[in-house]
Amino acid sequence: VVGDDHVLTDPDLTAQYARDWTGRFRGSTPVVVRPASTDQTAGILRVCSAAGAAVVPQGGNTGLVGGGVPLAGEVVLSMRRLAWIDPVDRLAAQVSVGAGATLEAVQAHARPHGLEVAVDLAARGSATIGGMVATNAGGLRVIRHGDMRAQLAGIEAVLADGSVLRRMHGLVKDNTGLHFPSLLCGSEGTLAVVTAVRLKLVSVDAEQTVALLCFASLVEAVAAVAELRAWPVPLDAAEVFFADGLALVTRHLDIEPPVPRDAGAYLLIACGGRSDLSTELAAAVAHLSCAPMDIAVATEPRSRAELWRLREAHTEAINAAGVPHKLDVALPAAALAPFADTVRTRVTAVEPGAQVILFGHLGDGNLHVNVLGAEGDDVDDAVLRLVLEHGGSISAEHGIGVAKKQWLELDRSAEELEAFRAIKRALDPQGILNPNVLV
Ligand SMILES: Cc1cc2nc3c(=O)[nH]c(=O)nc-3n(C[C@H](O)[C@H](O)[C@H](O)COP(=O)(O)OP(=O)(O)OC[C@H]3O[C@@H](n4cnc5c(N)ncnc54)[C@H](O)[C@@H]3O)c2cc1C
Repeated sequence: VVGDDHVLTDPDLTAQYARDWTGRFRGSTPVVVRPASTDQTAGILRVCSAAGAAVVPQGGNTGLVGGGVPLAGEVVLSMRRLAWIDPVDRLAAQVSVGAGATLEAVQAHARPHGLEVAVDLAARGSATIGGMVATNAGGLRVIRHGDMRAQLAGIEAVLADGSVLRRMHGLVKDNTGLHFPSLLCGSEGTLAVVTAVRLKLVSVDAEQTVALLCFASLVEAVAAVAELRAWPVPLDAAEVFFADGLALVTRHLDIEPPVPRDAGAYLLIACGGRSDLSTELAAAVAHLSCAPMDIAVATEPRSRAELWRLREAHTEAINAAGVPHKLDVALPAAALAPFADTVRTRVTAVEPGAQVILFGHLGDGNLHVNVLGAEGDDVDDAVLRLVLEHGGSISAEHGIGVAKKQWLELDRSAEELEAFRAIKRALDPQGILNPNVLV
């Protein structure tokens, strides 16, 4: 179907497809197949269906829940060669792309038109649009533009039997029955293989301001986000990290931070518009009920990037320190601080030597709980149960994958899970697509 060159069987070549970005999930595969078109993807799935061979779709392999790696010897369907990008449709502010196009490539393609993809994340250089749809990626700007699901104007996908669903005309209003982009978004490769996506684009802000605010506590940072949300200029991002993460990042990058190292919580906010908003931002910060202990503000691209780096480098700095258990969770705003206060104690109760590093997308109530030095799954169990005690969700944006599968039934009802399974059975009756993921 794809030609010999794109069927990899040499273990030296397939190994990189068989382990995840964190190094926590490692499997093996007899074969990696790399289609370059929708037809080839359909052809491969027909062959796999006939053979009853399980398939793991894979994009950039930056997923953090082990959903894109062959842990049970599955065939890997690598989508990276479907990297085409159509000309930008400026009238509609949309673009159609192959599932294997990276976020960074689509960003670079749209920017000369004054447009950009509204979702952004630190793995942009490798994460593919297909993978981002499959995981319903969130990232840094959800507070302003919503998650990946909110960016979808059309989708093309291949079902397990090789049939193709295609609705790519990009109509903003289209109430003609089930909305397949919504159904497939977040399905983690279990219902269909995404081959193309029609993306909505947003205008690039001419001016951007980034500020790093140091607060005595997370309670104060959460209150500041609530007050800044009421401000007339929309926030682009409201990100949080803590002193232990800042220490790890500055050591990893060998840099000095522009703010004191001992704040209780660091809130990075970004906003943008047609003109420089730094004066308005300063006024809004001056009116906060709890004044920050310290502030660093950046309006120039380089200094903005330096502030962003302190937050974005958390994932790589933590990975450089060891193999983390990464628990991406969501909490109601009021529960963020109580959860953060308790989670370290809960983790060390089951794993005394473990180190817990928190950071995340505070504006979305999304914390990433990173645990270094954990052996088994007891830590995951302790953290996820604590999340549920606080009325949260065990996955905010990374998905369930294999990492959180055993806890899904604590979060979703039996009726919901049976509905998931019924949809899975209808679209993939043999169960060959990502059989070990989600349900
Ligand atoms: C440094 C770093 C920062 C990150 N930051 C964020 C963040 O801020 N927000 C966030 O949400 N995530 C983040 N992630 C996680 C990751 O980048 C996202 O989950 C991303 O959407 C995965 O895309 P991918 O192409 O790498 O998918 P993969 O890792 O290859 O696959 C992920 C899942 O999608 C399925 N899949 C992949 N391609 C397809 C397809 N074409 N059709 C059907 N199923 C498919 C796979 O089977 C798997 O279940 C980060 C990761 C890293 C390493």
